[in-house]
Amino acid sequence: MRKAIYPGTFDPVTNGHLDILERALTMFDEVCMLVAKNSRKEPMFEEAERLEMIRRAVEHEARATVESFQGLTVDFARSYGAVAIIRGLRAVTDFEYEMQIALMNRKLAPSVNTVFLMPHDKYTYLSSSIIRELARHGQSVNGFVPDTVAEALEQKYPLRQQSQRL
Ligand code: ADP
Repeated sequence: MRKAIYPGTFDPVTNGHLDILERALTMFDEVCMLVAKNSRKEPMFEEAERLEMIRRAVEHEARATVESFQGLTVDFARSYGAVAIIRGLRAVTDFEYEMQIALMNRKLAPSVNTVFLMPHDKYTYLSSSIIRELARHGQSVNGFVPDTVAEALEQKYPLRQQSQRL
């Protein structure tokens, strides 16, 4: 049984994140989406809301689990029995930050490898921060996030009348 964890802030989860999860599930028997705290970010959604949105988005996927953790990702990886940490790489701009984290995690837990996966190219320009920005301006985010996330965003920020479906 080969397990991996896919940590992120997921504020909110997008179809790009889910694309990476699906790819990871072709390589590992079980993948845990881990809602982790990123000290550089002040999230729009509470942790419980983010967990619930992910749970609903992956409920059809029996081999995906969803957890949250306050400590170091490698500590969670060890206790979960994961052999790998999954991260998504959209463009070269992600690389430097991701490399720093991956090399530090390797120092802390040499037996846990970081696996980078590239999403479908239609998701390369998609990020949670762009989704939040669109929603704040009353723009529909349909097609870029799971339906439950689009609904949660529309509740916080009603759609502008002339909002285009993307
Ligand atoms: P973090 O705060 O840990 O960067 P994010 O939720 O922003 O958390 O992203 C989690 C992981 O998913 C990161 O590795 C990020 O590069 C990746 N990711 C984010 N958006 C996409 C996307 N559209 N396609 C592929 N990977 C993505």
